[in-house]
Amino acid sequence: MKLLALQEVDKELQALEEARDKFPAEIDERQSQIDQARATLQEQVDLLENLAREQRHYEREIDDAKADLKKHEERFSAVTTNKEYDALQIEIAACKSRISEYETEVLETIESSERLRQEIESRKQEVGQIEEQHQSRIEELQQRLASLQKEVAGVESRRQVVSQSIESRLLQRYQRSRKNRGSRVARILKGACGTCFRQLPAQLRNNVKYTPTEVHVCENCGAILVWDDQTSS
Ligand SMILES: [Zn+2]
Repeated sequence: MKLLALQEVDKELQALEEARDKFPAEIDERQSQIDQARATLQEQVDLLENLAREQRHYEREIDDAKADLKKHEERFSAVTTNKEYDALQIEIAACKSRISEYETEVLETIESSERLRQEIESRKQEVGQIEEQHQSRIEELQQRLASLQKEVAGVESRRQVVSQSIESRLLQRYQRSRKNRGSRVARILKGACGTCFRQLPAQLRNNVKYTPTEVHVCENCGAILVWDDQTSS
């Protein structure tokens, strides 16, 4: 009969464990949605930084080209031949075209940055909503997980008490057959196995009744047989 009690405790334990084991997957799934949203936002923030760096680069190039231009212009006073004059004109034109090219680049980076900044703003709101949506559920699941964990611990200590009162050979036989949960132990019901209802030989029924600390097994379904004065006789 104590084996039956143990089986009941184990059923309870199994149900709790199954519930408990479902939560971590949902928590992970929700957490990864948050992480993904944050990662996308971070990519855009990085991109914006790159654009700012690019802009600074072109601004420096413009400064250099302007300094170059100034040097060339100053050389006009020292020019003595037409040939030198033409060569200087060509170099000055090249400087000016460089400057205008870089200015176009700067304008483009400013425009891109502005667009990206707007995208980032709306993305931030989106991420905030995703965090809000999942975070509260994650916390709820974590709390339920913690309380289920406590319940499991409680049932486990009850299991400990019950199993200590069971004869060790019976307990070992029961533990070995843990795979077929729920039907490892059977009462004898009206002379038959309470799990598979196969009629049992009289000798076996007597053995179950009078040597309850021995292991008796239903040959048909493998359940450990126990005697219950209320139902077995
Ligand atoms: Zn059976």
